[in-house]
Amino acid sequence: MKTIKVDHIGIAVKNISERLKLYRDFLGLKIAEEEEIPNRGIRICMLEVGDSRIELLESICQDSEISKFIEKKGEGIHHIAFEVKDIENAAQFAKENELRPLSETPQSGAGNSKVLFLHPKTAGGVLIELVQRKSKED
Ligand code: ZN
Repeated sequence: MKTIKVDHIGIAVKNISERLKLYRDFLGLKIAEEEEIPNRGIRICMLEVGDSRIELLESICQDSEISKFIEKKGEGIHHIAFEVKDIENAAQFAKENELRPLSETPQSGAGNSKVLFLHPKTAGGVLIELVQRKSKED
């Protein structure tokens, strides 16, 4: 399978605007996009760092994946996302290699992407997100 780069690092935060003091004001990162993803109960803020990005994730409902994460572990690094060329192919390859996807098929993610998460228990304790940014033809 073909992996292009570290697409972004996801960081669980209690409050995005509070944390922007660090990432935007102190580190000087530029906000690339902000989006609510109601079906996951979260709001995200993407900040550009050169060719890669930092994704701040804030919960907008009580039992979202992010509120559960923060309850258990506190704020901190939540996942690492790798951009792949062909996510369907990556999903198949993951199954063949005993990496358990969190969903049966890739889901639609922020900014028209397709994403697939791999269970941390099958991936050395790291929640890995695979992202396909554009269609293969682009
Ligand atoms: Zn992500």
